[in-house]
Amino acid sequence: MNGSNGGRASGDVWVLGEARQLGECAPTLAELSGKAREMADSLGAVTGEARRVIVVMLLDSAAERLARPEEAARSGADGAMIVRGDRLPSDRAACGRILAHLAGLHEPCIILAGATAYGRSVMPYAAALLGTGLTADCTGLSIEPGTGLLLQTRPAIGGNITATIKTPCRRPQMATVRPGTFKAPPSSEGRAFETAEPDVPAELFRSGARYVSFADFSESDRTLEDRDVVVSGGRGLRRADGFRLISELASLLDAGVGASRPAVEMKWIGYPHQVGLSGRVVSPKVYIAAGISGSVQHMAGMQTSECVVSINRDPDAQIFGISDVAICGDLYDVIPRLIGRIRKKLEVLE
Ligand SMILES: Cc1cc2nc3c(=O)[nH]c(=O)nc-3n(C[C@H](O)[C@H](O)[C@H](O)COP(=O)(O)OP(=O)(O)OC[C@H]3O[C@@H](n4cnc5c(N)ncnc54)[C@H](O)[C@@H]3O)c2cc1C
Repeated sequence: MNGSNGGRASGDVWVLGEARQLGECAPTLAELSGKAREMADSLGAVTGEARRVIVVMLLDSAAERLARPEEAARSGADGAMIVRGDRLPSDRAACGRILAHLAGLHEPCIILAGATAYGRSVMPYAAALLGTGLTADCTGLSIEPGTGLLLQTRPAIGGNITATIKTPCRRPQMATVRPGTFKAPPSSEGRAFETAEPDVPAELFRSGARYVSFADFSESDRTLEDRDVVVSGGRGLRRADGFRLISELASLLDAGVGASRPAVEMKWIGYPHQVGLSGRVVSPKVYIAAGISGSVQHMAGMQTSECVVSINRDPDAQIFGISDVAICGDLYDVIPRLIGRIRKKLEVLE
């Protein structure tokens, strides 16, 4: 199965949809469908041909009851291709073979997936079978005016530079994007949506894998991306129990607790709290950074936050450059005062 088509930018834009363990679609579907819509429209403008956004869902019977790929129509998708099988989606090799098979038949020009455990295992498998490239963990995607090529931007060389990668000669162009990198577009009504259930050869479902069990993060560890407010602490806390102060502020604001990588490396807090290039990407309404300098690697995980509040005693701290509210001072002085003020406000409201 060869994915080359001589470098022509033809075909639709596909999004590999993901069902969560309970069966509902993961939020990345709306984020990626919105981005895919933008790209399909840009491609249409370059080539003069309308391009569709198609969601591919590989589901088992538990997921199919709850997964609603048609909801992606509100983010700009035109249709879904659904394949059902008992081992899907947990058998990633089978998912990779089926995705490659469908792509070989329908020749999409772009396939996007979330850089989740699922996307990170299915996409490389499919890319290898299709003989094409894959850019993992993109932080930016756009269409190059003139050529219609996908511009895939991601940090490179240890996160010190950002590189823009093109796939000029192979198809499809494949990329994964970390959840939260793009905002889901405001939901819109009225897009026509078609669902197809293509036949897939039985041998593609054949599996050498044996399902043993599924172990997830605990509920408290997994919700950082879903929070409206995140309060993060960095090396400036200077000691592990600084996170008590961070947690106190977070619990008053019903916020998640984040951290910079040094705070995690010093074992002040667990890895599931790390925000940044090698941690989680969050996009809350408010992100509060305390004792964090604002390295590019940290900012890669929070720069799409709607409002950034930072507390740092260095007036030249880089984080102030991207902050909506910059508080220059010692966090051990500022945070207790903030906590006191918030408590008073909450008392008034009670
Ligand atoms: C490949 C790679 C991946 C990486 N991935 C990540 C990642 O995912 N996430 C991440 O965060 N980093 C990541 N890093 C590390 C990154 O380069 C920085 O080293 C890190 O973000 C710095 O963390 P920090 O801001 O907590 O510490 P520092 O840079 O040391 O900053 C501490 C800040 O606290 C301030 N401060 C000190 N005391 C106080 C006080 N009492 N009150 C107020 N402010 C105070 C200081 O002025 C300073 O600005 C990565 C690096 C590499 C090479």
